[in-house]
Amino acid sequence: MPKTYDVIIIGGSHAGISAALTLYRAFHTCLIFDSGKPRDAASDKVRLTNGWEGQDPQAFRATSVADLERSGLVDFVSHKATTISKNSDGNFDVVDVAESKWTGRRVLLAMGVEEKYPDIDGYAENYGSLIYHCMFCFGNDKKGSSVAGLLAMGILAHPQHTIINARDALKFVDSVTLYTNGDSQVEKALSGVIEDRLSIDSRRIKSLAKPYDGTGIVIEFDTGEKQSLAFLVHKPDIEVSGAIPEQLGCEMIPEIGIKVTPPFNSTSVEGVFAAGDCCSPLRNIPSAMSMGSFAGCGIARSLPPGPLKK
Ligand SMILES: Cc1cc2nc3c(=O)[nH]c(=O)nc-3n(C[C@H](O)[C@H](O)[C@H](O)COP(=O)(O)OP(=O)(O)OC[C@H]3O[C@@H](n4cnc5c(N)ncnc54)[C@H](O)[C@@H]3O)c2cc1C
Repeated sequence: MPKTYDVIIIGGSHAGISAALTLYRAFHTCLIFDSGKPRDAASDKVRLTNGWEGQDPQAFRATSVADLERSGLVDFVSHKATTISKNSDGNFDVVDVAESKWTGRRVLLAMGVEEKYPDIDGYAENYGSLIYHCMFCFGNDKKGSSVAGLLAMGILAHPQHTIINARDALKFVDSVTLYTNGDSQVEKALSGVIEDRLSIDSRRIKSLAKPYDGTGIVIEFDTGEKQSLAFLVHKPDIEVSGAIPEQLGCEMIPEIGIKVTPPFNSTSVEGVFAAGDCCSPLRNIPSAMSMGSFAGCGIARSLPPGPLKK
């Protein structure tokens, strides 16, 4: 492999892999860094993906990684890229946790986001299995259940978001309880927008647990009372992973991440592109794949042609 790669990709999940699948077809070399913590790691099924419905998300990625390996144009580093700098010749140097240095002509940022769980006992253990951020991904598996809950915390404490997400859940259950976790301001705001089949519970939450039969989630309140639910809806706060966008000087948009210009998803730094959750409010696999593929086209067009292959 050449010493200088055409493209260094930081993040080898749905967005990064799609970009590399586009780039190798135009004979461009790529180096993909991946520290192996994709956002859907807590899930055992992939949804919203043509041809892969209900299958293992890790197998989904591995199939494409095997295609990329067969191309002979893509290398992988299975750990974290820690620092990046742009040289005077316009190329980029990346250093990884093993302190190896790598060089590329272009960079694609596809590092996803980190989710910040609320400080509630049992939240982390149940996120992705009984606490769902997206009803389009998870709701159908729970259809016909009686009662679900929604944690009205973080972004879901804003009444507009609370109601949209509660209505999403009402497609699958008879009723949804909105839990304010003792926040009287949120309780007051939600009282003004409450609808049929929704109710508010303002008790403080002590912990979340899976019942022995595994059929739902149990909320235990500070009072010692318990409530059993089919599932909970909640969206944890998110932030773009790591310091690399800042090291490059990429312009950021609050709540969204790295600022990109569609359709090819260039960033404010020449030669740097971004794709997927780290630069979009539409955080799902089809969107990450689409953005990665378009970024791949834009990067290929920004590079001189490689050696003609016959
Ligand atoms: C529980 C759960 C289930 C989900 N299920 C679905 C679903 O069924 N269908 C759907 O459409 N969407 C689903 N989503 C959303 C989906 O997971 C994301 O939208 C998608 O993974 C985004 O892809 P991405 O490539 O942008 O980022 P990610 O998949 O998050 O991948 C980013 C990768 O970059 C790596 N990385 C980060 N920083 C560095 C670094 N400095 N160096 C090297 N590597 C780095 C990470 O380790 C990670 O592997 C789910 C989300 C959650 C939380």
